Amino acid sequence: MEWKAAELPMPPATGAEPCFKVDAFFPEEYGLDDPEVRSALALCGGCDLARLCMVWSLAHPGMTEAGIWGGTTPYQRRSIRRRLIGRWGQAGAQEHLRASYREALSKFRARDRDVGFCRQGSA
Ligand code: SF4
Repeated sequence: MEWKAAELPMPPATGAEPCFKVDAFFPEEYGLDDPEVRSALALCGGCDLARLCMVWSLAHPGMTEAGIWGGTTPYQRRSIRRRLIGRWGQAGAQEHLRASYREALSKFRARDRDVGFCRQGSA
């Protein structure tokens, strides 16, 4: 089934995230037995933006056909999309992704504010 992009804003990456520094995020094969793929998945899954990137990549299949995004491989994302559509239909799945993105962005921003507050408090 054709999946139209949900048109969410890009996650607020700064350029300091692992995918900007490690080439292994776009391997030729995504075999989970490959140590470089496993390492990239672990780095990506541990990134502060992982939830946002995963939801964003699910919502934009045309822009994320390749690559490790939010700790997922292309195969995993295709599988998740199929399950979302099976459960809610395409429109419902996209609305679910939009809501998930809003929630993840709100948590990300709140955590950023908390970190800023702690830094100020310890200065
Ligand atoms: S979650 Fe992964 S793809 Fe997204 S910014 Fe972090 S390292 Fe990059």
